[in-house]
Amino acid sequence: MRPDSLTPLFADVTALAGVGPKVATLIDKVAGPRIVDLLLTAPHAVIDRSARPHVSEALEGQLVTLEVQVDKHEPSPPGNPRVPYKVICSDTTGFLTLIFFHARGDFLHKQLPEGTTRLVSGRVERHKNTLQMVHPDYMVDPLKADDLPLIEPVYPLTAGLAPKTMRKAVRGAVDRVPSLGEWQREDVLAAQKWPNWQNAIQQLHAPENASDLGPQTITRQRLAYDELLANQLALALIRQNRRALPGRSFKGNGTLRNQVQKALPFALTGAQQRSLTEIYDDMSVPQRMVRLLQGDVGSGKTVVALMAMLAVIESGSQAVLMAPTEILARQHMESIVPLCEAANISVELLTGRDKGQPRVAKLNGIAKGYIQIIIGTHAVFSDDVQYKDLGLVVVDEQHRFGVFQRIALQEKGDRPDLLVMTATPIPRTLALTSYGDMDVSKIDEKPPGRKPVDTRAMPLARLEEVTEGVARAVDRGEQIYWVCPLVEESDLIDLTAAEERYAALQSRLPGRVGLVHGKMKGPEKDAVVESFYRGDISVLVATTVIEVGVNAPNATIMVIEHSERFGLAQLHQLRGRVGRGDKQATCLLLYKAGEKGQLGDTAKARLNILRETEDGFLIAEEDLRLRGAGDALGTAQSGFPSFRLADIGDHGALLDMARDDAQLIVTQDPELKTTRGKALLELLYLFGRDDAVKLLRSG
Ligand code: ADP
Ligand code: MG
Repeated sequence: MRPDSLTPLFADVTALAGVGPKVATLIDKVAGPRIVDLLLTAPHAVIDRSARPHVSEALEGQLVTLEVQVDKHEPSPPGNPRVPYKVICSDTTGFLTLIFFHARGDFLHKQLPEGTTRLVSGRVERHKNTLQMVHPDYMVDPLKADDLPLIEPVYPLTAGLAPKTMRKAVRGAVDRVPSLGEWQREDVLAAQKWPNWQNAIQQLHAPENASDLGPQTITRQRLAYDELLANQLALALIRQNRRALPGRSFKGNGTLRNQVQKALPFALTGAQQRSLTEIYDDMSVPQRMVRLLQGDVGSGKTVVALMAMLAVIESGSQAVLMAPTEILARQHMESIVPLCEAANISVELLTGRDKGQPRVAKLNGIAKGYIQIIIGTHAVFSDDVQYKDLGLVVVDEQHRFGVFQRIALQEKGDRPDLLVMTATPIPRTLALTSYGDMDVSKIDEKPPGRKPVDTRAMPLARLEEVTEGVARAVDRGEQIYWVCPLVEESDLIDLTAAEERYAALQSRLPGRVGLVHGKMKGPEKDAVVESFYRGDISVLVATTVIEVGVNAPNATIMVIEHSERFGLAQLHQLRGRVGRGDKQATCLLLYKAGEKGQLGDTAKARLNILRETEDGFLIAEEDLRLRGAGDALGTAQSGFPSFRLADIGDHGALLDMARDDAQLIVTQDPELKTTRGKALLELLYLFGRDDAVKLLRSG
């Protein structure tokens, strides 16, 4: 149950004076449906109308507030409404003409009676030596000067929502801000000189100048920290809840792992060993492992996953490896089976394509436990698949973040351990705010002997040259990926582009080119990808990134059309698909040139980062810095949280503080029972983290 203290904040915005259902719909678009949503919507600018010159001193284009006498109304001539309605005003220093288009005379006479004094505020212009103000923002009686705010915050707006309406609604909301318990520590408040929450919210909505809006003001810092603490505390509670429930403990005796390790044609890298130690330690304790294994394409995650699965099998349980596509599942199968033979382990592939008797046989083997490792697509979690004893689920997400899958998997089996592999390096800060409930292992070192990929940018105009280069590489027996991006809104156009590219390449290299795109059926797609994998074709034109996920050691060139449309992390991932063998690899970033044929500044900066480093983590951080959290990973789609008052670029240090604070809270006051704990409960509700509060109650 939500604490009563928050009830006024969670009222519908229609509870505010001047907000009816219609306005509420508009406010909902820019802020949200409740009063608290208005409070957490920060102004992004201020209008300063505090300049109060005499008429003669007003500067062209300046926003001013003038005190003038209303001298004379000059309505539009009858039958000619295009000529504006004018009101001539003056002070002791000069004349000011107020201009109104499509004016209503009766209204203007009421607002500006001749002979009275008025405060008018707006932007002024000089027209043939007379000072003019078109449609003043304010016209008020000096006795009611309070109605004219000299400093006004500017809020996000939408069509139909007037700035004044929005401001009034926010002011109404601010008037209702209750004084809540303090959820921050006294010493932190004192050290940072932070105001209490009530004051902070009031100050947020009462900026006096643009610098009051900055991310580093104490007001904003306090509020950003509140939001980050709510995020970190919620994740810490989710994690604590999971830890409190029993899980499996897998220790194993190491025999299978030793056998397989001996059969490996290489030694594990330091990073692989470190990740494995973390994983083994985690699996050995009787709690559920929920761990993210991050590592660039080609960093060697598969063998790490295999070792983890072996540890489970040594304890007599089963393990599943789930891949995002059938072809990737098959590829995992091919790399894992030979290694498993060394230890005499039974591995089976299970996909949606298994039908009839063979499927029944596989399901039987899984149910009886004869099959120890199951590799497949999401089909491994179909309702009819019953495991004898599922101990570990490994999810190879490649490019997708299946937050949904992560949750769905929790329901399956006897609380198996979970290891999620991702090749998308997530900037540390984003990982903290989104995966803070998971433990993270990083493979931040590549197997030895990899040559850096020669990365170059080229305007699309040099397509001919690129095609010739590709043809020469094909003659040398090398393989090429050619990526045409698929943008959702216009996938038909893009598809045509990819088909045209395919046709053009095919005519230059008859019989050597294949095309895969998202509109193709699974088997059709797989057939093409497989013929590339086997070397039957030399060039694979693909519209979607995922198909490029296959391993082709012979691939030396990656061509990416419209590279400007991709995120840096994506480009880096694509690049990682070439240069796996011993030949020098090249990545060509084709871009659509600007009018003068050159690359824009941001594009240049992006390219330089890709050229300078092959460190996916560094690239992800830079991408975040260049494009902001919203764009770096397409956060909206990826399920990353979006903050209202915090910005993980500006408030990174606060995020670290919040994480430490949250950890301390869950150890010292796990049920949020203390005075501060109760206030923290309010904080969680305030930022909509009811999900974490529920765990608190049930756990
Ligand atoms: P990822 O899944 O992280 O993209 P893979 O697991 O497919 O990478 O490994 C890429 C390639 O590197 C594979 O051919 C694999 O056999 C090889 N590999 C993995 N670990 C090592 C290592 N320690 N030393 C040399 N080669 C390795
Ligand atoms: Mg892999």
